[in-house]
Amino acid sequence: MNFSENLKAAQNCAERVIAALATLELPATPNNFTVWYAYLSGRYPDLSETIELLQEKQGGVSIQMARRLYADFFTDAREEQVIRQTGVKISEELADVLLTLADAAGDAENFESALQENLKGLAQDPGLESITEAMKSLAREAQKMQSSNAELQKRLEISSNEIVSLQQNLDEVRKEALTDGLTGIANRKMFDISIERAIEDAKRTGEPLTLALTDIDFFKKFNDTYGHQTGDQVLKLVAKILANSVREGETAARYGGEEFALIMPKVSSEEAARICERVRSTVSSKQIRNRTTGESMGNITLSLGVALYRPGDMVSDMVQRADAGLYFAKGNGRNQVVLESQMEEAAIAS
Ligand code: GH3
Ligand code: MG
Ligand code: MG
Repeated sequence: MNFSENLKAAQNCAERVIAALATLELPATPNNFTVWYAYLSGRYPDLSETIELLQEKQGGVSIQMARRLYADFFTDAREEQVIRQTGVKISEELADVLLTLADAAGDAENFESALQENLKGLAQDPGLESITEAMKSLAREAQKMQSSNAELQKRLEISSNEIVSLQQNLDEVRKEALTDGLTGIANRKMFDISIERAIEDAKRTGEPLTLALTDIDFFKKFNDTYGHQTGDQVLKLVAKILANSVREGETAARYGGEEFALIMPKVSSEEAARICERVRSTVSSKQIRNRTTGESMGNITLSLGVALYRPGDMVSDMVQRADAGLYFAKGNGRNQVVLESQMEEAAIAS
């Protein structure tokens, strides 16, 4: 029988989820099921990496950690609901398929016992009549089996399509949950996930990691003068410039209102300073213009602070140092990039 690969993969994944939860001595609650289903499907590298790190470092995953994983990766009222519903639908589909399979197995057993019966009968009375009778009875059984197989095949195809579309829906919802609605770049939640992962990587590999935080200069005044909607267009522009400045493996995120972040793994502070300087000069060189009236609104500028990972740093340490650089830049005239090392030099000089 030609099972669909997708369905097979989904079934296989569900079975592995149950086994994995049992090994970790975690209850198969819907939340844990959702986390491990996503993990074992191999579709969420950031989740996989977090779980593998936990297992490697702590030799397992506690109930509290599992709860945290669910909260970190899957909560957000609406998304949570969709994800949960999708999980329930997938398990319902699987249950249906299993029932159909059990039915078919029942028919196959009937066929086998009919065959045995007939063979026995034939051994006792190998006459033409009994052969004809045995053939007829087997044909009847075979036909029953065939129609139940055709039905099974049809049922599997429907389930398989259903599971694939549920999976796509889940992917879309998840992507949406990590994207900022206005600017289309990574949102705060994605920032939190990415920086946590980047710090773990830096700790493990010893490679550099830099974090830049940026805030638009005098943005309140801009909003007051040209309106919030025009301000929103500026946020989109800044986000686009930031997104264009990152490479594979780096993250440009909207950190909050008019604050953005760049997470740059494997990037030294000198290189980060160059990247930030390019962003700063690109933003400041843009003439902001009203599309309909053509009116010029001058240009806007950014202040940026850059922190380099230090062994033992937690997310809050890096954020705090990048923030200190940013506020140093503000106090120093704005429209500039400040590295934490520059702040230390300034402190020594004064
Ligand atoms: P500074 O140079 O010191 O940063 O001055 P500022 O005026 O930019 O001060 P601050 O950073 O505190 O101002 C934040 C402003 O950003 C206030 C708020 O109106 C604006 N803002 C925050 N989120 C949004 C948003 O989503 N859209 C728009 N248009 N404006 C926003
Ligand atoms: Mg601000
Ligand atoms: Mg500002």
